[in-house]
Amino acid sequence: MDRQRTIKGSIKVEGKGLHTGCYTKMYLHSAPENTGILFIKNKVKIPASYKFVVETSRRVVLEKDGEKISTVEHFLSSLYYLGISNLYVEVDGDELPILDGSALNWVEILENLVKDQDLLQDELTIETPYSFRDRNAEIIFFPSSKFQVLCAISFPNSFLKWQRFYLKDLKDYKTEIAPARTFGFYYEVEELIKRGLISGADLNNALLVGEEAYVNEPRFKDEPVRHKILDLIGDMALSGKRLKLKVISIGSGHSLHIKAISYLLRG
Ligand SMILES: [Zn+2]
Repeated sequence: MDRQRTIKGSIKVEGKGLHTGCYTKMYLHSAPENTGILFIKNKVKIPASYKFVVETSRRVVLEKDGEKISTVEHFLSSLYYLGISNLYVEVDGDELPILDGSALNWVEILENLVKDQDLLQDELTIETPYSFRDRNAEIIFFPSSKFQVLCAISFPNSFLKWQRFYLKDLKDYKTEIAPARTFGFYYEVEELIKRGLISGADLNNALLVGEEAYVNEPRFKDEPVRHKILDLIGDMALSGKRLKLKVISIGSGHSLHIKAISYLLRG
């Protein structure tokens, strides 16, 4: 079993948000055992839990007592990889910094600060498989002693057609998953801007998918499906537990992920 973990001391991270384009400052502090990941905004403590998710369209938004924090998924994904389970995260802003659009910067900032604690982490285990569906999307959980994620996405009208990636071992996350950036389709850009999203997106922090090819240079040929796994792990981190599951995702997104873990944890 894994020990609970926090970080040594405190660290400041700042940058612009992907959707708001606004500049946010974050102060991460070491936290005692059994604290969990706790965002603190205007003195309101918002746990990084599926119970406080209020929006799942294009990003995950948490809210408590009228205070909202947006786009938490990449940060939480990096914490899950590093096994950091206890952290105070003071946030001066509405949205977490997007940094390079992936989880790599987060991993690099935090990996040398990780500190083991004495108590063991809570685990989520299941006895039988569970499947959750939403239109054409599906997510299936199989009992497993090891956390693994197999993801397939299909965009038949794009040159991407379909992509699959299998993360067989979380230890490969830093090289295979963490560098994969947020992606978007060229044809969606106008509509997303109209909806007040992606104000902070640019060709450094996002991969733009054109009709015939990627507009900017991808970090991997299958960067989109790898980013889907990054997002999925960030969503699963909202369980607050180490997952002893094999996950198969077929085109699933934030909303189905949150629905699925809510069901598993509430029964
Ligand atoms: Zn993402």
